[in-house]
Amino acid sequence: MFITTHAVLGALIAQHLPNNPFAALVLGVASHFVSDIIPHGDTKIYKNYLSGKSVKSSVAYVTIDGILTTLFVLFLFNLGLGDARLAITMGIVGGVLPDLLVGIYEVFHIKSLSWFHRLHFFFHNMISEQYDMTFASGFAMQVMFLSGLLSLLV
Ligand SMILES: [Zn+2]
Repeated sequence: MFITTHAVLGALIAQHLPNNPFAALVLGVASHFVSDIIPHGDTKIYKNYLSGKSVKSSVAYVTIDGILTTLFVLFLFNLGLGDARLAITMGIVGGVLPDLLVGIYEVFHIKSLSWFHRLHFFFHNMISEQYDMTFASGFAMQVMFLSGLLSLLV
């Protein structure tokens, strides 16, 4: 899923746990794995990245997503989150942490992260390995899903 979607989902969960940043972190990570199970059309992007077919566009996709996530967090923290600020931070960290670790593994080939990489793609490919949607359909679905999440936030 979009990194932005994972961040919004983590923030949304944390909003209901204003006094428990640790639970927000753990549930943020869990939300990442659960939401990645939903087929979202990016399986081909990752396969093309791995095969070296479209590395530049894959990196551009992740860069744009990362910048949008940063902008989302900036806007979110300008809304005045009161006492929930730390919990929301931890929820966002938990939400994006799995993709960060996968990225670190891909770039630096850190062997001690290989189990995490496999765990991430166990969830990510659980359904999409057999039944993924097209990139355009997945993109549209994620924009709708993200819009719905944003409407619930704050
Ligand atoms: Zn992921």
